[in-house]
Amino acid sequence: MRILIIEDEHKIANSIKRGLEQESYAVDVAFDGEYGFDLASTEDYDVIILDLMLPKMDGVEICRQLRKNNIHTPILMLTARDQLDDKIKGLNAGADDYLVKPFAFAELLARIRALTRRPKEALGAVLTIKDLSLNTLTYQVKRGQKEIKLSRKEFALLEYLIRNKDKILTKDQIINHVWNYDADVLLNTVEVYIGYLRNKIDKPFRNKPQLIHTIRGFGYKIGEGK
Ligand code: CA
Repeated sequence: MRILIIEDEHKIANSIKRGLEQESYAVDVAFDGEYGFDLASTEDYDVIILDLMLPKMDGVEICRQLRKNNIHTPILMLTARDQLDDKIKGLNAGADDYLVKPFAFAELLARIRALTRRPKEALGAVLTIKDLSLNTLTYQVKRGQKEIKLSRKEFALLEYLIRNKDKILTKDQIINHVWNYDADVLLNTVEVYIGYLRNKIDKPFRNKPQLIHTIRGFGYKIGEGK
């Protein structure tokens, strides 16, 4: 999952970024509205955290323009307590949720999870495919009864694959959702990480169906059949 933070207060932006990275999200930060709008328009994010008061272009305007340009990435608006009236404007402009500053990081995380959850997954934080399960709250991954230890990046990659199960994902799509803008990622990096995942979720389970499939010339998918 890849997140964009548009927030001019460096301290707040950086601490949210650090927190989210620990939770295995890929994070980009824009410190002004114009740059934020550019990134939101050209890159592929799963959620945008958008401060209301920003230099160059404010949050309501960014929201309105993105929606007008048919970009429907979920937006979580941040507002100061004395800007509560503005939050209504934000929601009218197309934001999906808002959070009043100061907020606890756990609260922000809960909102992000709610925004990225698909309706059919609304009942729980556990994503599954066959006997493989991934808990997005506890970070526990299991195949059958066996627990599997993954690094943060491996977890993020597996989460993205499972959220899109049975769909073929290109390496570009994978990079765009699992790594941030600054990350120096080569197409080959995806191959390497897919290899790590296979070694943990497929190879040790020889008597079970293979879950990760390479679609030659296209990319990868996780699925129950070929
Ligand atoms: Ca601000």
